[in-house]
Amino acid sequence: MYRLIDGKEVSNYIKGKVRDEIISLGEKGIKATLAVIIVGNDPASRVYVNNKKRACEATGIVSREYALPEETAEAELLSLIAELNNDKEVNGILCQLPLPSHIDEKKVIDAICPEKDVDVFSEVNVGKMWVGDYDVASCTPKGVIELLEYYDIPLEGKNCVIIGRSNIVGKPMASLLLEKNATVTVCHSRTTDLSFFTRNADIIVAAVGRKRFVTADMVKEGAVVVDVGINRDENGKLCGDVDFENVKEKCSYITPVPGGCGPMTIAVLMKNTLAVTKKQNNV
Ligand code: NAP
Repeated sequence: MYRLIDGKEVSNYIKGKVRDEIISLGEKGIKATLAVIIVGNDPASRVYVNNKKRACEATGIVSREYALPEETAEAELLSLIAELNNDKEVNGILCQLPLPSHIDEKKVIDAICPEKDVDVFSEVNVGKMWVGDYDVASCTPKGVIELLEYYDIPLEGKNCVIIGRSNIVGKPMASLLLEKNATVTVCHSRTTDLSFFTRNADIIVAAVGRKRFVTADMVKEGAVVVDVGINRDENGKLCGDVDFENVKEKCSYITPVPGGCGPMTIAVLMKNTLAVTKKQNNV
């Protein structure tokens, strides 16, 4: 019998703890402010930004939105980031991805000063994570760790297989699982015989971006399956990378989509905004 990992419950728990700390910072005259930049009219990006604003409201973090038109020049965006880097009222900065194709995403990510980079996408902060010397960790992978820890799922010595090696999910996921003393295998599109790895996994983290990619025959009995994917099925409904209905019966724990990793990413973003605010104020 599998147990469902409830990302809404865990994210509410984390946001509640962030809110308590934001209130006590407020009593010391300190407020936390997150600047969110969105460029263009991508509907998915708009939904994500609205969700982040709502989470800020729920935690007492001040959110400032900078909505720029699609045709914004790269130089203009970089100059806004420079302004926000120097703005003492702003503690965290994020630029919603993807950016329009005429803007170099990497340049933009690395323009955000590491002390305010709450998405933890910058080279400096990614490097800090890998050497285990960090204040903030990448939101989605850290959200996965928080989920597993909330349910007391042991990581030490476990055979963890990550499917996907992106800079925002797969690679930082590997770094955080290694830090927890798991044995980590990172698979990708050139992996030969993917099932060989997944069938031996105690924990599978799927971050592929392909609906129902992980099927029951790829999963061993009793495995923990974490589905990071956000896709649309044939009927336009949200679904993950895992064939949930068929895989769940083999699992000890499994995350649903929606309601699994998605809410956790935003909860960790709030946690990161709190962490940088405390650091900047020597709290
Ligand atoms: P991405 O940059 O497109 O990376 C996908 C990864 O999957 C790549 O490393 C790719 O391998 C690998 N892959 C593709 N086909 C494969 C195959 N047949 N076998 C094995 N590996 C394969 O995607 P991403 O940004 O990491 O996102 C992954 C999914 O997570 C998406 O659905 C995204 O929407 C979702 N996501 C969710 C959250 C959240 O908050 N829950 C946050 C971020 C992303 P190569 O490197 O070889 O191409």
